[in-house]
Amino acid sequence: MKSLKELYRIGYGPSSSHTMGPRIAAERYLKRHPEAANFRVTLYGSLAATGKGHLTDWAILQVLGDDTEIVWHPDIELPFHPNGMKFETILADGTSHDAWTVFSVGGGALAEEGNTEFDTPEVYDLNSLAEIQDWCKKTGRGYWEYVEECEGKEIWDYLAEVWQTMKESVERGLTHEGVLPGVLHLRRKAPDYLIKANSFGSSLQTRGLVFAYALAVSEENAGGGKIVTAPTCGSSGVVPAVLYHLEHTRNFPHRRMLHALATAGLIGNVAKTRGSISGAECGCQAEVGVACAMAAAAASYLFGGTLSVVEYSAEMGLEHHLGMTCDPVCGLVQIPCIERNAHAAARALDANIYSTFANGIHRVSFDKCVEVMLQTGHDIPSVYRETSEGGLAREYEQERT
Ligand code: SF4
Repeated sequence: MKSLKELYRIGYGPSSSHTMGPRIAAERYLKRHPEAANFRVTLYGSLAATGKGHLTDWAILQVLGDDTEIVWHPDIELPFHPNGMKFETILADGTSHDAWTVFSVGGGALAEEGNTEFDTPEVYDLNSLAEIQDWCKKTGRGYWEYVEECEGKEIWDYLAEVWQTMKESVERGLTHEGVLPGVLHLRRKAPDYLIKANSFGSSLQTRGLVFAYALAVSEENAGGGKIVTAPTCGSSGVVPAVLYHLEHTRNFPHRRMLHALATAGLIGNVAKTRGSISGAECGCQAEVGVACAMAAAAASYLFGGTLSVVEYSAEMGLEHHLGMTCDPVCGLVQIPCIERNAHAAARALDANIYSTFANGIHRVSFDKCVEVMLQTGHDIPSVYRETSEGGLAREYEQERT
C-alpha cells in the first residue's frame, strides 16, 4: 500500500477526481510545454459528464489559460478508467502535437496506461486488514503503530498538518453563510445547524453538532474551499466531523487524535488498495461508504476498542453503504453529497456503539466487505457512477424540463 500522504491530500474542492486530478495533470503538461501558446483538452466519460458541475474545466483553465479549448465527450468512456483526459498542444498552423492521455483515478491521483511514471513507492508491506491484524497480535501493537512502523515517525508531522487543516475547514464552514456556487443555488446550512443544535438537550445536541460539522466541511468543499481528502473531496466531511466532535466532547489528547487519524487512514488505504475510492468507478459506496468506515474505526480506537472492535466498526461503516450510487444533481458535489456526509458521520458513531456492544464479534471481515464493494461497484450501471445520467440527477433534470 502507498503512503497515507496519498490518501489524505490537502487541497481545494469540490472533487478530488474531477478537480484536483485534472489540475495536477494540467500542471504536468504545462511543464512539458511551457512555451506553447494554445492547448486543447478532451474530457471523456465521467469527467465530461459531470465535469462542468465539478469545475473540471475551471481547474484546467486556471493552469493552461483561458484560451484552452475544452472538448467534452461524455459518450466515450476509455477502457482503462472512466475519468480520461487527452492533452494536446495546438501549433500555429492548427495541427496538434504531443497528445497525452492520462486518467484521474480518484483521490487526486493520476495514472497512465502502460506507463509506470505515476507509480509511487509501496510503503506498506501488508495489504489486507487480516494480515495487519496478525502483525498487531504478534507484536502486541495497535493499528497506528503499524502505520508508524511503515511510514516512520515523520508521518506524525504530516498527520498534524492534516488534522489542523480538517479543524480549520470545520470552523470556517460553521461561519460561512450564503449560497453555494452553481445552478442549484443551494444555501449553506452548517451555521444554522450549529445554532439549533446548541439550543437542544444533550442527546439531540450531539447529533445536531455532528451534522453541523460534517455540513461545514462539505459546504466548504462544494464552495471550492481548502479541505483534506478523506478519502476524497466529496466525502471529506465525515472523518473531520466525527473527530472534531469527539475531541471537543471527550478532550482526547492531541497525540491520540493523530493516532485515530492514522487508524482511519489505514482503513481507507486498505479500501483504496483492494477496492476503490472512486465514485466514477464504484459509486458513492467507495467514497462516503469508505469515509464512514474510516470514521467508525477512528471512533472505536479513541474509545479504546480492541483490534476486532475497530475492524467491526469499519466493516459496518462500509457494509451498510454497499450499493450506494453516485448521482450528483447537475454534476455538482452538493445533492446528495453534502447531506450524505452528515448522515454517514452519524452512522459512524452508531457503528462504534454497535460494535462495542458486540465485543467486536462478527462474521463478515472488512477485507471481504471491500471485495464485495468492488464487485458491486463494477456491477452498478454507469448511469449511477458519477455521470449524472441516472437516479436523483435524472429525476431533477426531468422535473426541470
Ligand atoms: S454522490 Fe458520493 S461519490 Fe458521487 S460525487 Fe457525491 S459524494 Fe462523490
